[in-house]
Amino acid sequence: MKYRSTAALSPEVSLEEAVVKGLAPDKGLYMPLSFPSLSNDFINHLPEMSLPQMAYEVAAALFGEDVEEDALKRIVEETLNFKIPLVKVDDNIFSLELFHGPTLAFKDVGARFMARLLGYFNRSNKERTVNVLVATSGDTGSAVANGFLGVEGVHVFVLYPKGKVSRIQEAQFTTLGRNITAIEVDGTFDDCQALVKKAFLDKDLNEAMMLTSANSINVARFLPQMFYYFYAYAQAVKAGADPSEIVFCVPSGNFGNITAGLIAKKMGLPVKRFIAANNANDIFYNYLNSGIYTPKKSVQTIANAMDVGDPSNFARVLDLYGNSHEEICSDISGATYSDQEISETLQKTFKENDYLLDPHGAVAFRALSENLDRSETGIFLETAHPAKFKETVEGIIGEEIAVPDRLMAFLENEKKTVPSSGDFGEFKNLLLNLVKQ
Ligand SMILES: *Cc1c(COP(=O)(O)O)cnc(C)c1O
Repeated sequence: MKYRSTAALSPEVSLEEAVVKGLAPDKGLYMPLSFPSLSNDFINHLPEMSLPQMAYEVAAALFGEDVEEDALKRIVEETLNFKIPLVKVDDNIFSLELFHGPTLAFKDVGARFMARLLGYFNRSNKERTVNVLVATSGDTGSAVANGFLGVEGVHVFVLYPKGKVSRIQEAQFTTLGRNITAIEVDGTFDDCQALVKKAFLDKDLNEAMMLTSANSINVARFLPQMFYYFYAYAQAVKAGADPSEIVFCVPSGNFGNITAGLIAKKMGLPVKRFIAANNANDIFYNYLNSGIYTPKKSVQTIANAMDVGDPSNFARVLDLYGNSHEEICSDISGATYSDQEISETLQKTFKENDYLLDPHGAVAFRALSENLDRSETGIFLETAHPAKFKETVEGIIGEEIAVPDRLMAFLENEKKTVPSSGDFGEFKNLLLNLVKQ
């Protein structure tokens, strides 16, 4: 399978090149040249298949020409070595718990897959070092750093906004050492993302080192997120849902997660419709209402992994629907909630449904409970474990919550970071010096 750029100004590339490059040279995002359709037979048999089994079939349709069968099977199995249960929260609403992986967030899936795929491509190229640059508002950094820890031929630089990620999140990427360097930027998440984007386009840096991204602009990060849409659908059907009435609601920031769902639908998964749930960063919501896309500066919220003012995968959403606002609106509706509304929902669901949401899941649960028809079954993606936002969640419910041991373990290690003022020249020198060492 070849990959093309959404900007259509650079040549088609192989999967390996798309993964190693991250962003296309014309600043577009890579997309598979075509979307293979999965057979009805496959869809009908989903309820009898295990997660790794169905994930392999989906992976083979997309990556089968580029990765040997045994290797792809192993990559899929190693990626998905944790459970992704579908849990009933309300009459016709289910939570897809994507937080049972090593860093307790859905990003583990994409990060673990990408790390293994890059390791596979590096196997015959022992002398090369691929430098992964990743901007994070919290969860991406931890998932990518842990996914890539110890992968040969890869060095990861995690850029994060100083003082704007929780202590537990920070500990997950600042305490690892080895091939992981954490860079603490005096600025916002958008500033971190801007530094990373600039670096990819910088001539000197690209001559000195091989740079790639592990944000959801990378095809190896966002496409594997398709796997769990198939699994969620299968579990819902097994639980008695009408297979033609399934609605996915995705708490969205950079829109990588929902884009993977849209592609799953394109490849044959019978999803009735999607809801993109936003916090106060309502850029996409406004686009749906007006047809006009106006990026804004992000505002800080309690669902901070979704504090994005210019979602990078918006280009992919447009591309998938041939730039048609009408077509986009026929598949996706939107919702936007303030911190106050997120808190109310989290508290109410804890009391009345005996289910503890994290702030991101709360945005999506609320969107479903306000927008679902009686005939429909709603599945929301519960993207992180509530303990990742311990202080916020405890403040809302007025009770202490238990932190899983594997999360606590990170806090015991020493924090190591490299400070950055946010100035690009300084950041560039920092990278160049680190490579020289
Ligand atoms: C990253 C993240 C999101 C947003 O996902 P996108 O793919 O960027 O839309 C939502 N919730 C949590 C907990 C996250 O970490």
